[in-house]
Amino acid sequence: MLGKLATWLRISGYDTLYVGDFSFDGNQRKKEDTFMLKNYTDRILLTRDRELYSRCLARKRKVFFIHSDYVADQIRELKSAGIDFKIVMNRCSVCNGILRKPEEHEVKEVLEREGISEDLSRKYELWYCPKCIKLYWMGSHWKNMVKFLKEIDESRI
Ligand SMILES: [Zn+2]
Repeated sequence: MLGKLATWLRISGYDTLYVGDFSFDGNQRKKEDTFMLKNYTDRILLTRDRELYSRCLARKRKVFFIHSDYVADQIRELKSAGIDFKIVMNRCSVCNGILRKPEEHEVKEVLEREGISEDLSRKYELWYCPKCIKLYWMGSHWKNMVKFLKEIDESRI
């Protein structure tokens, strides 16, 4: 439910685990809740679920309740709690891994696979996730994200 927010936290450099990235068999929801209560207790749990929130409080687990269904408002909620949303190219938005500069052959491999023109590496500074074999750069997608954060700041969305 908070997948988009998790992506935004990673884009902003925060070490973020998302329960949707773990696999559970059987009674999914119940297992997710138990998993989150028991594991990674040094982290702050973000949830939209009032019952899970109450159980966390009862167990003195660090927890933050997210009120809104909309990612722009969720970002606002976390901003008011002191989280700084700005795009830093240091963490993979997909897997949470740390990005690094790519080797030439890694750039070539991704560009060929994705059918992207080779001049991308001349036009942009590139970052690389070795786990996802994925490149990041400050192109149009990045510009849209900057715009989105600006619109949140200016309360236009
Ligand atoms: Zn990754």
